[in-house]
Amino acid sequence: MFEFDTIAAISTPPGEGAIAIVRISGEEAFAIADRVFHSPSGKSLMEAPSHTIHYGHLKEVDSGQVVEEVMVSIMKGPKTFTREDVVEINCHGGLVTVNRVLQLILRNGARMAEPGEFTKRAFLNGRIDLSQAEAVMDLIRAKTDRAMNVALGQMDGKLSRLITQLRQALIEVLAQVEVNIDYPEYDDVEEMTIPLMLEKSNWVKGEIEKLLQTSSQGKILREGLSTVILGRPNVGKSSLLNSLVQENKAIVTDVAGTTRDIIEEYVNVRGVPLRLVDTAGIRETEDIVERIGVERSRQVLHEADLILFVVNYNQALTDEDLRLFETIQDMNYIVVVNKTDLEQNIDLDQVKTLAKDRRVITTSILNEEGVDALEEAISSMFFEGSIDAGDATYVSNSRHIALLHQALDRITDAINAAEADVPVDMIQIDVTRTWEILGEIIGDTMQESLLNQLFSQFCLGK
Ligand code: GDP
Ligand code: ZN
Repeated sequence: MFEFDTIAAISTPPGEGAIAIVRISGEEAFAIADRVFHSPSGKSLMEAPSHTIHYGHLKEVDSGQVVEEVMVSIMKGPKTFTREDVVEINCHGGLVTVNRVLQLILRNGARMAEPGEFTKRAFLNGRIDLSQAEAVMDLIRAKTDRAMNVALGQMDGKLSRLITQLRQALIEVLAQVEVNIDYPEYDDVEEMTIPLMLEKSNWVKGEIEKLLQTSSQGKILREGLSTVILGRPNVGKSSLLNSLVQENKAIVTDVAGTTRDIIEEYVNVRGVPLRLVDTAGIRETEDIVERIGVERSRQVLHEADLILFVVNYNQALTDEDLRLFETIQDMNYIVVVNKTDLEQNIDLDQVKTLAKDRRVITTSILNEEGVDALEEAISSMFFEGSIDAGDATYVSNSRHIALLHQALDRITDAINAAEADVPVDMIQIDVTRTWEILGEIIGDTMQESLLNQLFSQFCLGK
């Protein structure tokens, strides 16, 4: 176990909940809690059995002044999330109360935890691997149930198990390589081992490719689909935005990191988290181009995963509409023809021709018609033919995706080399590297464990 000081933080989300929890983890957790906790019976927390809950009051050490009425859970390591001693103080919700409790704990010897520090400890203490630790972070940030399922699957070790399987297969490849190096004089050894190496390596390659195929969806689930609502003034952009926000709970995001001129809002559209970009622009000046300038708006449009381009059913397409069509011609967009409750003056065939193979959805936001179809179009666009997030192993984390790409390159090199009759020790380098890179995903790449595993593989047959 690593040596750590004792940390504390509020572990429930901010806001007026019914209860809020201050969590303490570390060697001093019990002692610190005991210093300020007073049960009616006068019993000390230090003597209480592990995994029990206690009612009482928190008091200032010097003045004895009551700070809060609480329930305190004490959990002795290693059967805790961090594997350290953990105390959870349940207090009445309300930011002021919880903060008072936290301050009291900090004054009595704990250090304020950094973001993610409890999870980091769980990883360093071997409770979870790196990809699971990352999943905990994703879970906290999950914006839809689907995103949550992906994170839960990963936390449960789904990705870790698959990565472990792939690495096991690579160890077996390396075992074949070893045989080859040990008995270079026998030609039939090579004839036997190369096909086996190829078969296993190709399987690993295929699995990595499959994982990478889920990455764009995984990334969207995790980070949201950045969406811009575009269109001339008065076509119904604000109305569309409000309708999406009202029907689907808007998710307020961290203020941190959002710049002032681009404001983001999340809505959950059938499991797809839409990150609505520049909603302030739509609300305030109605025109993204006018508001942030041509260049900047072009950039915002380019960075968007999806554009909802709104035109007016009641009017023929204007020059400005045509210009906007032209601007977004290579982008991912859906045309929303709004105000179908009014007389038709738009040429729908022309719209469809301009939109090429993109979807064209007609709506009357005023009468709440067509928004369902639009939502369906958005969600099917991103989940077409895909397995439900609950079953698939998704990769959504940029770090994992980058490592998988590297691993794919290495294993491909190894396969090409094996097919080209390159000396096996060259192949060994690429396969070992693949094994290491995959290990970085779960935070376990030590040359030593490679050797140990190799050794155990070998002993089996000897
Ligand atoms: P924006 O300028 O593109 O944001 O357009 P708004 O959402 O502000 O809408 C402009 C006007 O069109 C408002 O008076 C809306 O009430 C109206 N509007 C929006 N959607 C519809 C619709 O489907 N039918 C009708 N008849 N009016 C609509
Ligand atoms: Zn508007």
